[in-house]
Amino acid sequence: MSNRVPISIQSVESILEENDVKIREIKASVDQYFEETGYRKRACIKTYGCQMNEHDSEKLDAMLMDMGYVMTEKMEDADLIVFNTCCVRENAELKVYGNLGRVKNLKKKNPNLILAVCGCMMQQPHVVEAIKHKYAYVDLVFGTHNLHHFPGLLSEAMHADKTVIEVWDTEGQVIEGLQVNRKKSLKGFVNIMYGCNNFCAYCIVPYTRGRERSRRPEDILEEVATMAAEGTKEIMLLGQNVNSYGKTLKPVIDFADLLERVSEVEGIERIRFMTSHPKDISQKLLELMASNDKICKSLHLPIQAGSNRILKNMNRHYTREQYLDIVDRARALMPDVGISTDIIVGFPGETEADFEETLDIIRRVNYDSAFTYLYSRRTGTPAATLPDQVPEAEKHARIDRLLKVLNPMINARMKSYKDTVFEVLVEGPSKNNPAILMGRTSQSHTVNFPGEASWIGETIQVKITRPKLFSLYGERI
Ligand code: SF4
Repeated sequence: MSNRVPISIQSVESILEENDVKIREIKASVDQYFEETGYRKRACIKTYGCQMNEHDSEKLDAMLMDMGYVMTEKMEDADLIVFNTCCVRENAELKVYGNLGRVKNLKKKNPNLILAVCGCMMQQPHVVEAIKHKYAYVDLVFGTHNLHHFPGLLSEAMHADKTVIEVWDTEGQVIEGLQVNRKKSLKGFVNIMYGCNNFCAYCIVPYTRGRERSRRPEDILEEVATMAAEGTKEIMLLGQNVNSYGKTLKPVIDFADLLERVSEVEGIERIRFMTSHPKDISQKLLELMASNDKICKSLHLPIQAGSNRILKNMNRHYTREQYLDIVDRARALMPDVGISTDIIVGFPGETEADFEETLDIIRRVNYDSAFTYLYSRRTGTPAATLPDQVPEAEKHARIDRLLKVLNPMINARMKSYKDTVFEVLVEGPSKNNPAILMGRTSQSHTVNFPGEASWIGETIQVKITRPKLFSLYGERI
């Protein structure tokens, strides 16, 4: 592994200066190539997993564009490919390994193609070992705590004859000042914290993203103000557990205080946040959501399982009763709040009776939407070694049953929105039908409607005419 100076004794200024030098060096060579050949080199980033990763990719994207690369979606057209990986579920890992195999063929056609792999998967020593031995044609491997070193590492990899690897086990200080190339300028992600302290028994994130560190409110507000000045209207504040924001800061500040300060930034019209851990959500936050028009009436509140026994084994630190109480209090304050959740089916030891309790929670809460997952055994987490792993066939059978309860309820809820008028921020053409526009309600429902490009960026009133299972169709009024 590369032996760089640990971040704790390297100043942020010197990191940014070092980056500038390396970015300029790479840009000079990319520009020279363009002058000699008339061809501008292309870079492609493939992002797996959560919004944290998407946001990290926006930072990599900005660095690559500063280096003179043109971005492309197609790996086949690229001179440099970055896989920003996720290891929360086995499926995401398998996709990365599959794509690494595809790039081997591309490298045969273009031996100058550079391949970099980063993100959560790289924080696992067995993955780095696999890359060293089975995928030795990878040029660069770096971890989640090493993103800010990308220009220097890339420069090293461009001149090395073997894989350059830099993966720190532990997080350093929060690095401010990295540029971000935001994919959606109307809407933008803002990290408010990194890492997680919760150690849910099934989750690999605390091992790959490190302990919880909050960004200083001044830095967050400055970033939001800059984005607003550039035309961003909707902000998504990101953290693994936003409700514990600020606990590591001095003076201590809580998430509701931060949210209120973000809402005071001129030009910002809507604020969303995720993820809210039920154990840390405060009444103060719910009251602020209810009283502040800029904060969207949308609450993503992962339940994960409906049985207290399983919640305890998951190390979630709340009971089903406490969860239902939060839902009741949120709805009492905001009758129109949209509530979504995450559910894991087949956690080790989950019995038929436990699973029935998950179905019961679904019936009681009546969610607006839910992300449902089969439990995926992750090496290194406590749950991976628990006895009574649920057989795959049983997990599949349970999730099918769960969807038979969940989907009709979501469908009925969506149908109840017929003739309702929602305030919608117009985001742009619909993904599935570019001839119509799409936007989102405060509650996070996608709405499609006919309209003109000049409406993009406006907040308009839309009456729902045709509700569907996952989206709503309507007309501007
Ligand atoms: S709160 Fe739990 S599930 Fe969420 S990132 Fe932290 S450990 Fe993982």
